[in-house]
Amino acid sequence: MNKKKSKRLTPTAGILLVCALAVLCVAIVLILGRGNLPQPMDDTSEAPTTTAPSTTKPEPTTDAPLTINNVVTTEPDTTEAPSDSTEPPATSTPTTKQSESTGRIIVDVNRDDWYFIVVNAGREMPEGYVPELKEILGCGKCLDYRVAPHYEEMYYAAKQDGITLTPYSAYRSYERQKNNYNNLTKSYMSQYNLNEADAAKKAATVILPPGTSEHNLGFAMDICGTESSFSGTKEYAWLQQHAHEYGFILRYTAEKQPITGIIPEPWHWRYVGVENAEKIKNSGLCLEEYLDSIGVAY
Ligand SMILES: [Zn+2]
Repeated sequence: MNKKKSKRLTPTAGILLVCALAVLCVAIVLILGRGNLPQPMDDTSEAPTTTAPSTTKPEPTTDAPLTINNVVTTEPDTTEAPSDSTEPPATSTPTTKQSESTGRIIVDVNRDDWYFIVVNAGREMPEGYVPELKEILGCGKCLDYRVAPHYEEMYYAAKQDGITLTPYSAYRSYERQKNNYNNLTKSYMSQYNLNEADAAKKAATVILPPGTSEHNLGFAMDICGTESSFSGTKEYAWLQQHAHEYGFILRYTAEKQPITGIIPEPWHWRYVGVENAEKIKNSGLCLEEYLDSIGVAY
């Protein structure tokens, strides 16, 4: 009996042994295979997102792109993750060129963290760039399609508080900006008896040269008008209190004029994403300073 039983068990034991070996082999293959996979980058870079676990793939620096109208998510493609661990995530490494005609840096309008694009006196968008636009509120005025829904959301929220954030100036084409700028330059030439270069320089403190305005990008809205007295209105007070909740910041203040080069514009509100808007507001920094502070190249 025992002998028979022992003989019946032997094949079973053999099968078990084979199975165990097979499992062991699979485990070894998996372990070795894993060893060959790219390891998560050492998060010692200047990645601005401090809340992101270092073992995960690089993420957008704000929640903004993931919440935009379900149109686009800018989750970076991990296959394009930079191999150099000292580099920030690919999303904040823009390519930069310099314009031969103006000497300005030409910004990378295709960067994944598009809400960080900075245009100013020394930085311009590529000539001929036209953002993908979306009309807001059926009023015939447009913003970049990724920004428009946020303005509408803010508009309706304000409306519920009895505040009307009338869109005054939204997207402006390159050509229109050029005309506005040239007209003001000419006006200053006669008004102040300046040569063209000096008049253009003076004009640039009021109207940015074409391609250097956030209106050309479709990222900014002039709300209710362009009067400095706007800072005394209830609409302005509402914006000061709530605009960051919708991703907008006051872009040009008197305090930061030495950096932005622009006169105080209480009416000009620019989109940067909710998370960044809140941080910028709390920091008291302007956009350029903020990006420097979090190590984002722009
Ligand atoms: Zn403006």
